[in-house]
Formats: sequence, C-alpha cells, structure tokens
Amino acid sequence: MLMQNPDITKIVHQHVAMDEFFTGGFTVRDKKTMQQQIDADQSAHDAAVELEKIADEVRKCRKCDLGSTRTNAVPGEGRANARILFIGEGPGADEDAQGRPFVGRAGQLLDKVIAAMGLKRSDVFIANILKCRPPENRDPRPEEIINCLPYLQRQIEIINPEIIVALGAHAARTLLNTNKPIGQLRGQFHEYYAGLARPPIKLMATYHTAYLLRNYSQENRKRVWEDMKKVLAELGLPVPQRGKR
Ligand code: SF4
Repeated sequence: MLMQNPDITKIVHQHVAMDEFFTGGFTVRDKKTMQQQIDADQSAHDAAVELEKIADEVRKCRKCDLGSTRTNAVPGEGRANARILFIGEGPGADEDAQGRPFVGRAGQLLDKVIAAMGLKRSDVFIANILKCRPPENRDPRPEEIINCLPYLQRQIEIINPEIIVALGAHAARTLLNTNKPIGQLRGQFHEYYAGLARPPIKLMATYHTAYLLRNYSQENRKRVWEDMKKVLAELGLPVPQRGKR
C-alpha cells in the first residue's frame, strides 16, 4: 500500500547527518553508494505513486460486466519495487469483500508459502489477471481478460520484478500466451516480455494455492516447494532446508 508523503531524500539525508554527528565525521563514506540508495528510495516512491494511480483507475473501471457485479475491485498490493510478483487468476469471495488479493483460505496458504521462502508478504507484490470477481468464481472469459490485462501489464512494467510467479493455469497461460496445461508449464522458468525495449522477465509457473487446497497431497505440496526453491536460487536468496520449514 502507498505510504503517504515520504520525503525520501530528506529522510536519507537526515540519517546521514545523524550518522556523521555520532561518528564525528571520521568515517570514510562511499558517496556513490549513498546516492544510489537515495535514487533507489526515490524510484520506489515514484513506483508506489504510479501503482496507486492504477489502483484508482481499477476501482472506477466498468470496462467489462464484472464491474457491475463486484463488491470491490482488487487491484493488487505489495512492495512497489518487489523482486517477486505473484500473479493469480482473479479475486474470490473474500477478496471481493475486502478489496485485497489472496486473503481467503488460498491466500492464507500463499502466506505460508511466502513465509516458508523466508520472506514476508510485504516483501512481494500480489496481483491477479482479473481485478474483479467473476460470479460464482467461474473461469475468466476471454473478453474479460482482454479488457483487464492492460492494468496488470502496466503494473508489471512499473514493478519490474526479477521474477514473476504465475499461480495456476489461467495466469500462466495468459502471461505466456499458450494453451499448455499447468502440469507442463510448472517447474521451469519461462520468459515474459513486458515490451520490446526491455529484457524478458523470468516467469515460474506453479500450482494455484486454491488448487493445492483442493488437492492437498504431499506430492503437490512438494512440487510447489520445488518451484519456489528454484525462484529463491535464481534470486540468490537462501533456500531453507527441508525440516526447517
Ligand atoms: S475485471 Fe478488469 S476490466 Fe472488468 S471491470 Fe474489473 S477492472 Fe475493469
């Protein structure tokens, strides 16, 4: 969620000034690193502002029929400069009621997956292909995806994650423009193209946590965990050992 009015440059300078005061100014400081931090903080703030603008557009959107049946639109939430972007299919009943992604049982399971990865929900960004709930949780219709996808595409461009995790067949097939089953797509990295001028983003497809809940076998849980271990390894993050999860 967007934090209001953080004057990032001012805050960083205040920290630097305080540090210099306590060290007596004797510490040799790497000015380039400090400037890089200021730039990174500013860019995260700018990204958060842009994401909030998209969220406002989504909340007012009536481009497809789902705009008139939803309770709340669910634009997505999380860290604006997240390294990992999780993308599901669409909001369910709990998400529709709260206007937040992955807050029902499937969301609680996703929270557990994220925690098992040694991360917090606030470390990542979570969104869906569709921003409004299809009635009775039916599958998204092609015209709904066509109308809604530009919002997600803009979010991806702004967040510019290192890895996208596509949760389930609808997310993976839509983002990879394929009809292959999730069983064939999961477990390996694919490439998502956010535009011709940008390098592709690595995309890992895995089972949706709602599917996992319906098919809660040791084997399926192991498959998802294997997929997430590949994501961690690709990011150079520590991979928690089995038995410590
Ligand atoms: S599903 Fe997407 S395109 Fe349809 S009304 Fe909601 S935000 Fe707009």
